[in-house]
Amino acid sequence: MATATSEQVPLLLGGEWVHPKTQKFHDVFNPSTGEVIAQTPMCGAEEVDAAVAAATKAFTHWRQVPALKRADVMHKFRQLLEANFEELAQIVTRENGKTLAEARGDVQRGLEVVDFACGVAHLSKGETVPQVAHEIDGVTMREPIGVCAGITPFNFPAMVPMWMFPLAIACGNCFILKPSEKVPLTVIRLGELLIEAGLPAGVFSIVHGGREVVDALCTHSGIASVSFVGSSRVAEHVYALGCKHGKRVQAAGGAKNVMVVMPDAEMDSTLRAVMGASFGCSGQRCMAGSMLMGIGAGGDEIQARTAEAIDALKVDDTLSNPEAQMGPVIDRAARDRITQLIGAGVDEGATLVRDGRNLADKPGFYVGPTLFDQVQPQMQIATEEIFGPVLSMLRPQNLEEAIQWANQNGYGNGAVIFTSSGAAARKFAHEIQCGMVGVNVGVPAPTAIFAFSGWNRSFFGDLHVQGQEGILFYTRQKLVLSRWDANYQRTQGW
Ligand code: NAD
Repeated sequence: MATATSEQVPLLLGGEWVHPKTQKFHDVFNPSTGEVIAQTPMCGAEEVDAAVAAATKAFTHWRQVPALKRADVMHKFRQLLEANFEELAQIVTRENGKTLAEARGDVQRGLEVVDFACGVAHLSKGETVPQVAHEIDGVTMREPIGVCAGITPFNFPAMVPMWMFPLAIACGNCFILKPSEKVPLTVIRLGELLIEAGLPAGVFSIVHGGREVVDALCTHSGIASVSFVGSSRVAEHVYALGCKHGKRVQAAGGAKNVMVVMPDAEMDSTLRAVMGASFGCSGQRCMAGSMLMGIGAGGDEIQARTAEAIDALKVDDTLSNPEAQMGPVIDRAARDRITQLIGAGVDEGATLVRDGRNLADKPGFYVGPTLFDQVQPQMQIATEEIFGPVLSMLRPQNLEEAIQWANQNGYGNGAVIFTSSGAAARKFAHEIQCGMVGVNVGVPAPTAIFAFSGWNRSFFGDLHVQGQEGILFYTRQKLVLSRWDANYQRTQGW
């Protein structure tokens, strides 16, 4: 914790940017250089109370605004995202460390959810059954649920918040966002753009902090739902606490995603996909491919070519060097945790083909791309989410064994297979126990029209973020049965 300085990040409460009374702050770094660029106030229940009060007040009006008018705000917000696209990408790179190309992807994926939210009038339509009983018509309608909270991780400062609030707000709810204390700056700019788009005061609020604020959001009686994205440990905590306090909760957690390379895979495109999936965003993606299962000759070839490609990968400061293809990890603690796990892999007997610990002296928080071979499924580097640029290669004997090893890791976000055999692809897609499957696709992350459908320890809840499930999560159904015939009397028979 640092002490307060003038670079403190403000909260957004009732449409005003305010500085809280707290004296506790979290340093925000430019991970490429290690310099402190801002400070996040670590708030508590008092600020959550203020945000809920403002949101509750705004909800009485916002829920009555016609869906097409709410969509108008989203259309305007979308235009502003486009107009400020490069600036947003720069902010993402500055506070997160990913390359500008990756940051543009981060903003773009979020923008696509706003696109989807613009269709809210159609997406939230109900059903009608005329004459469902004698002289009675049945109509269902979907109504907003109230004040919704969102808690987000550091790795996608633009996209993950936009998985949540555009849908919640378009559906007529008010939304309180608690971004990661490590990357609060992108969200501040998004808040400014929402205000510029004409969103009424109190419909969108930002409260900063860590566990204290998270627990206050999960237990507050004025909050109807909690959307969480982050590690499985915290996802499980948020799910249990939120449910105990009567809230709807969707909590997406960590992952350990498998990439299977069959001997008949087309190797050039497979290599590109494997490199992108493992080392994109320095491996800090919940859809990162972190376990490479090479089968037979396919395994030998992909191992040799991945090592070669690692040697050619430029790791550097992503803001000042446009040639950088991979940036740092988020902070010192992440770097130390990842390098310790590389050490654990060596200790357990895996073969270290490329060692990323050689960048420790560089200013900033760097771990180079790392490749292990001969990893066994029970080793720590095969069971624990590393969340860094470390690829663990396993050598199953055949597809059956690959699927069996993949299904025992307990997570369930993504799994991909590279093959030219339709039969192998079909078997894999049917037998793998996870929610997002790629066939010759490195990162099978859904676009905004589909739900982000993690399974097992990668998701706690029922309705996922994004897509139609997102609309269902942020609305509840009302059934209206109407009879207008005052003379109706029950008769026998049909
Ligand atoms: P994290 O769990 O440390 O933090 C996520 C959020 O929870 C942050 O806002 C943080 O302030 C808060 N938090 C942290 N510790 C807490 C605690 N003890 N009690 C209450 N709240 C707490 O995650 P992170 O390091 O920011 O992000 C990386 C993780 O997120 C990885 O595990 C990654 O796989 C996961 N992730 C998952 C998805 C998905 O869709 N499944 C997407 C992106 C990231």
